[in-house]
Amino acid sequence: MYVDQLTKVQNRNFYEDLLKKQQQVKNYTLFVLDIDRFKLINDTYGHAVGDEAIKFVADRLKSWNPKHDISIVRYGGDEFIGLIPYGYEVVEEDIKELHEKLMQTPFKLADIETFSLSVSIGVAYTAGRYQLIDQLFRVADAAIYEAKVRRGQVVVKEIK
Ligand code: GH3
Ligand code: MG
Repeated sequence: MYVDQLTKVQNRNFYEDLLKKQQQVKNYTLFVLDIDRFKLINDTYGHAVGDEAIKFVADRLKSWNPKHDISIVRYGGDEFIGLIPYGYEVVEEDIKELHEKLMQTPFKLADIETFSLSVSIGVAYTAGRYQLIDQLFRVADAAIYEAKVRRGQVVVKEIK
């Protein structure tokens, strides 16, 4: 019920049920990650290759999990959320490394062609002050909106 069929990460239901708990968190980091110009992949290579690209990113997110208690959610389409129960300073380097790896690892197209994917990431975090997860999501969403201006960027916002 909580697993996305294509990628096997948590699905939107998982996330919506989590929000219903209205949990307050601190020392918490949330990111939104979205593939850049994903529609172009679909349009150029077809929907099945688009699916493979989404799986490729999801697999990298699954194997990333540097602290072992990070949840990855497929929010929809080509967009993922990372729920990280740590302050930003703990995972800053890990997030940057994840971004670089995703930008640098070529995506293989049926062994014929490879191309690099670009992803944008918006990060929101709260240090000592309690916030709702939904509030973190809103701020991360504003951050990724900024990251999308040039794409391939990580934009970070602290909620104070
Ligand atoms: P941006 O750089 O701003 O993120 O643009 P984009 O093209 O990545 O994003 P946009 O939101 O315009 O397009 C996302 C597309 O993803 C639209 C939709 O048809 C497609 N899509 C949604 N779910 C799936 C899916 O499960 N598989 C595939 N192949 N495509 C999907
Ligand atoms: Mg996109």
